[in-house]
Amino acid sequence: MSEDIVIIGAGHAAGQLLVTLKQKEFSGKITLIGEEAYYPYKRPPLSKTYLADELTLDRLLVKPPSFYEDIQTSVLLNTKVSFVNRSNKVVQTKDGKHITYDKLIFATGARPRKINLPGSNLKGIFYLRNIDHVKRIKSKLSPDSVITIVGAGYIGLEVAAVAAKIGAEVTVVEAKDRVMNRVVSKEISNFYENEHKKHGVKIILSSKIDAFLGDKNVTSVKLSDGKTIKTNIVIIGIGAIPNTEIAAQTDLGIDDGIIVNSRCLTEDPHIYAIGDCTSHPNALLGKSIRLESVHNAVEQAKIAAENICGIDNHYKSIPWFWSDQYDIKLQIAGLSYKYDETVIRGKIESRSFSCIYIKDQFIIAIDSINNPGDFIQGKLLIENKTKIDRDTLSNPKIMLKDM
Ligand code: FAD
Repeated sequence: MSEDIVIIGAGHAAGQLLVTLKQKEFSGKITLIGEEAYYPYKRPPLSKTYLADELTLDRLLVKPPSFYEDIQTSVLLNTKVSFVNRSNKVVQTKDGKHITYDKLIFATGARPRKINLPGSNLKGIFYLRNIDHVKRIKSKLSPDSVITIVGAGYIGLEVAAVAAKIGAEVTVVEAKDRVMNRVVSKEISNFYENEHKKHGVKIILSSKIDAFLGDKNVTSVKLSDGKTIKTNIVIIGIGAIPNTEIAAQTDLGIDDGIIVNSRCLTEDPHIYAIGDCTSHPNALLGKSIRLESVHNAVEQAKIAAENICGIDNHYKSIPWFWSDQYDIKLQIAGLSYKYDETVIRGKIESRSFSCIYIKDQFIIAIDSINNPGDFIQGKLLIENKTKIDRDTLSNPKIMLKDM
């Protein structure tokens, strides 16, 4: 294969795409364009070990810089793509470069959803998506910090765990009536709420922020019930928005993410899209979805690279995800949308158990807490579209693999 490839976005998916292109002995010219200052890196540690200073920056990288020389990739960092001309097959960068392609890959990821309230531009208010965000947070974070986290999703709760561990005073404010409301069952939400409370984190549910108060720096947060919380750092984690604007400008189909098929190909046979920015068909749900997960970014990157190299392969894997908070590893397989009922395997008090989601008698998802065995075996049951009755499922003496 000797086509010229241009990749927009130098994140996790882009890094994996290059790894697979190398494995498949791709020999064309590759240009990787990223607006950040860093070679492709892994984001999960940003809210976990990197924030906690347990990991150095070089350990975040998907591959060391020398890898990109090995595969003769021109890497343009600190460079933002501003326009794509599909008729001429040209990518234009904000600083005026024009780069032609035979195949183009959108790997533009997502950006934090911003909050627009009085005081939201005060100093001390942070978002967390990239290395620079974390560097800024780390320069402020200390055992004396008084932190308010807006949003009790994965990122907010992971940051809460790191901050509580170093001794900071942490309050989490969440609009819904339970933590991680969007992705896990009530049992799992309650478990996490209790774990955070045990570590001294205050959790305020069903509550919204009305304003951030302070002169130059944020000094308190005003809630919609009129109460105020003193604070000197605010971290906002209220979700992400896919970076689809350039694809939309060039008239590619968008449905939340850039629409791709199971080969990660858009409606233009010369353009692929991979990772957080895509809306892709999900075999399990029978509809298209957008996912923000490493597994999805990596799988789509492999599929796109193989198809670019002439190997006809399709994305069909079961979504999975993880979150680390304190000494608890949550592993999720499948998607628990609109489930009928849940079954708990094991004792919640033991801090090693699973929650299985059932719809129309089939197992559609599993959340495993410190229970990797159930996670791996549960994932297989989801893949095989297995029907098992409640009593059997809830009996921890019967291994999931024997069902
Ligand atoms: P990204 O890694 O976001 O990369 C996209 C890149 O494209 C960015 O560098 C962006 O700046 C660049 N870009 C965008 N537009 C342009 C442009 N016009 N020109 C040039 N460059 C551009 N997933 C898990 O499975 N488990 C976890 O525990 C987990 N933890 C996470 C913790 C945090 C703090 C965050 C932020 C994410 C976490 N995720 C986790 C999600 C996971 O990191 C993402 O799903 C993954 O990074 C997606 O990869 P991507 O390449 O699609 O996007």
